[in-house]
Amino acid sequence: MQPFADKALLYGHAASEAIAEVLWPTRCAVCDAPGEVLCDACRRNLPYLDWWRACPACGAPFGRTQCTECNRTMLAGTGYARPPFASCASAVVYAEGAPRIVRAYKDHGERRLAADIARIMFQTAHPTWLAEAQAIVAVPATAKARRHRGFDHMAEVAKELSIRTGIPLVHPFARPRSFDQRGLGRAERMANLAGRIQTTPGASIPGSVLLIDDVYTTGATLFSASDVLAAAGAECVRCLTFARVY
Ligand SMILES: [Zn+2]
Ligand SMILES: [Zn+2]
Repeated sequence: MQPFADKALLYGHAASEAIAEVLWPTRCAVCDAPGEVLCDACRRNLPYLDWWRACPACGAPFGRTQCTECNRTMLAGTGYARPPFASCASAVVYAEGAPRIVRAYKDHGERRLAADIARIMFQTAHPTWLAEAQAIVAVPATAKARRHRGFDHMAEVAKELSIRTGIPLVHPFARPRSFDQRGLGRAERMANLAGRIQTTPGASIPGSVLLIDDVYTTGATLFSASDVLAAAGAECVRCLTFARVY
């Protein structure tokens, strides 16, 4: 491109951003105050999970000594005796401001929240996890969701996390066909997902992977994705999500 055209494009972009800021000022996804997509006060006041009280296996908020989420009874009918990943942690409980952040990001297209979500997840990840992970992998959005939103929401968070941590980003998954998990129980979700998440042919997976997703509901998506990563060669999959339904 010619330098002039380049500059004109740059000025044009800056001008349209300035106009957009006047017409639709940036507002906090939680409290609606003008200024930032997530203000400092709302970020500080999120319902953060306490790592020391959470289940070391599945990350359930109060499962440190006895987890009610990932025991054999809860997993009965799913085909699992224990979670297929080495460990899982979530940054916040899916309550108070967290659902607003997820909705503003995924449903209302406030893509700038990817950096804030990544920052909050980064603060949650144990330093050992970050030191040992050889790749960051995001759970893939379905083709339909990607089309509907215009972006793959977790791929963008993964990119931000990769920049923050220096851990390489790897995209081993094929884009899955659509699956609607709403209203399904744990075992039904597992069955609904079976075989839908797959790696692309020839995908190369390192031994230690940090697998990320936005919300841990029943764990079905992370269970399925972890299985696929293990089958493709990952020896240690640790999961990290922004929020946890509890
Ligand atoms: Zn706020
Ligand atoms: Zn657990």
